[in-house]
Amino acid sequence: MPYKIDHDRPNCIGCGACAAVAPDFWEMSAVDGKSDVKGSEREEEAGEIVRETLEIIDDQYTKNKEAADCCPVNVIHLLNEKGEKII
Ligand code: SF4
Repeated sequence: MPYKIDHDRPNCIGCGACAAVAPDFWEMSAVDGKSDVKGSEREEEAGEIVRETLEIIDDQYTKNKEAADCCPVNVIHLLNEKGEKII
């Protein structure tokens, strides 16, 4: 079953927790200190990344759920195959 990561990047506070918990999927930007989803599709507005999305498979869900659970500002969302928000 496919899932989707949906990162509300503008509201990321750059704490680094997601990249520490799931470094295969998350990394910290050297440009502005916020996190990025590796290999994600990026939506930009006025030169700023406003959303990052990435489809993931079952095996990749647990690590990203951990990342979402540890985000202190709840800007990491996971959607199910129907596009419904799990977190
Ligand atoms: S855990 Fe949340 S606030 Fe911290 S870097 Fe990751 S997305 Fe940003």
